[in-house]
Amino acid sequence: MNTRLLQNTKQDLELAAQLIRNGELVAFPTETVYGLGADARKEDSVRAIFTAKGRPADNPLIVHISDISMLDSIVKEIPPLAMTLAEHFWPGPLTMVLPKQDCIPDVTSGGLATVGVRMPSHPVARELIRISGCPIAAPSANRSGLPSPTTAKHVMDDMNGRISAVLDGGQCEVGVESTVICFDDAETVHILRPGLISLEDVTPYAKYVYVDKAVFQQISADAKVASPGMKYKHYSPKAKILPVDAPDFESFRNYVTQHAEEHTYCLLFDSDPEINGVACLHYGDDGAHQAHDLFYRFRELDELSAEIVYVRMPQQTGADLSVYNRLMRASGFEVIRL
Ligand code: AMP
Ligand code: MG
Repeated sequence: MNTRLLQNTKQDLELAAQLIRNGELVAFPTETVYGLGADARKEDSVRAIFTAKGRPADNPLIVHISDISMLDSIVKEIPPLAMTLAEHFWPGPLTMVLPKQDCIPDVTSGGLATVGVRMPSHPVARELIRISGCPIAAPSANRSGLPSPTTAKHVMDDMNGRISAVLDGGQCEVGVESTVICFDDAETVHILRPGLISLEDVTPYAKYVYVDKAVFQQISADAKVASPGMKYKHYSPKAKILPVDAPDFESFRNYVTQHAEEHTYCLLFDSDPEINGVACLHYGDDGAHQAHDLFYRFRELDELSAEIVYVRMPQQTGADLSVYNRLMRASGFEVIRL
């Protein structure tokens, strides 16, 4: 299959929508990462997403809508708390897990009775959904296990020859995937996957908000988890990622200087100085910048043939928690504690 690279023009958007209507796969930009889209209601098309990615069948897909009026046809009920959050955070990087309607097949929901729904803010994503005229199921457009793509080139690197088209919308703003939440009851928001929208952001609108423990620790493959994606190894480049929990930069530098070999790299904060004799890349000082850069740097490190990457540890509050979580998942929760 020849994968077409499409641009953000009226003509190419119309072509992309036509491909979606024909049941084919089109990767497209969202504000978080690139998604690999198909009509969420078409079983065969959705199955083709799992095949193209090499994704386990029990890991459900997020369904994307362009307008709040599409929500009723996808979910059975919208609790008042979900409506409040939709009003504040949509369009944007928030996915809500709600009871699904029958038009969403089991293959899309990974066999669950619920579906994750999101209204993206990226104008290209919204326009593609609108003119396709259907809800679009779209996981991140990477091969399963690899870092999510934040440019059209990343998608091509992973998916060339496997999908019909990639719609190029430039580099993604947010850089990590959406915040995924479900509702334990009418007053409780349960964060399944942290994203740019943080626990602190949601707190003013809900009586109780908490983060699932699988965000902080490895869950065994046979454990029952609220969100199936939590148990799989994820986001990982070829290089071995090793987060270093150091009390300060000095101790980080000492450790790395003693352990660096050929093909060892460091991923530092922007404000950190270079380390003599060790190749260094930087990934921002705060959560939003680190989120924007993290996966981009992971793919860059693979292009540089890095073998071991020592990474400065992000914070665990606010949007920083999304970066912490992706880093932990990339390292398999292995941390060097100094
Ligand atoms: P990705 O498509 O790669 O961004 O992954 C989607 C994430 O959303 C995975 O971690 C899924 O487990 C989670 N997710 C999607 N739908 C549901 C659902 N119905 N219930 C729980 N988690 C979900
Ligand atoms: Mg993914």
